[in-house]
Amino acid sequence: MQTKTTALISGILLAVTLAALRPAVAEELQTQNGEAAATDASVQLYVFNCGDFRFPSVENFSIGDDETTVRELVVPCYIIDHPRGTLLWDGGLPAATANISGWQRDPETGVQVRMQQTLQSQLLDMDLGFDLTSINLAAFSHIHYDHVGVANELTNAKWLVQRGDYEVVAKGGTVPAYDPALLAEIKKRPTQVLDGDYDVFGDGKVRLISATGHTPGHQVLYVELADFGPLMLSGDLYHFRLSRDQRRVPMFNVDKNQTLEAMDKVEALVAETGATFWIEHDAALFETLKLAPNFYR
Ligand SMILES: [Zn+2]
Repeated sequence: MQTKTTALISGILLAVTLAALRPAVAEELQTQNGEAAATDASVQLYVFNCGDFRFPSVENFSIGDDETTVRELVVPCYIIDHPRGTLLWDGGLPAATANISGWQRDPETGVQVRMQQTLQSQLLDMDLGFDLTSINLAAFSHIHYDHVGVANELTNAKWLVQRGDYEVVAKGGTVPAYDPALLAEIKKRPTQVLDGDYDVFGDGKVRLISATGHTPGHQVLYVELADFGPLMLSGDLYHFRLSRDQRRVPMFNVDKNQTLEAMDKVEALVAETGATFWIEHDAALFETLKLAPNFYR
């Protein structure tokens, strides 16, 4: 009798403990969308071309012009479609870049930019079930003009931004390569200011990793895909492969020591998780990727 009671009590205790351990978010997923919660294969990553750069010199990246023959960088955008929401990661060059066909050259710097099709136009053509007006979460690796190009077009997205970058935007601060007009609309919309790493959907699959230094609120994105495995979208932690190999920090960088610390932090996470590492601006890598409407899962 006593044994039975003890067993019963242990059973209740175990049930209570298990219930307490189960994350609230998982429970919510189960009730909201049982089917989606049953398989994490439903996290999908789409990759888009959101512009291209050509540089007359790479010295601004702290790389000698004789150290690499690479002069072109790609500007990608990514959309992560998760059962709990759709996240845009990095917003490309300003959409107006697409108004002029072919390469446009800045007469002062000699830097050329090109955008063959805006992200919104690509999304409407592809009919993926979402476009810039229905995406409900947006995060940019940082506020440089080549990463927030579509920000103002995200009319229904909550902006996830690290405090350092947010304060530049909110207080009218200046950092190199930042154009306040590109964030004028999104800053009026719902915004979640972050103080470090953040698990976007509460299930560990999509995580913003604070990697301060390139700007005061630079971050990278860790995504766990069921088939592809873990992936690190590294923002502007590096621009060239040589930057990663030799820990080169570009001239247009807010805090070199913080950037070096961020490199250590992100590289440690990559080593620990075995994540595939994508240097976002790497045009040679980009050529090997599956572009939308295809996707990674
Ligand atoms: Zn960039």
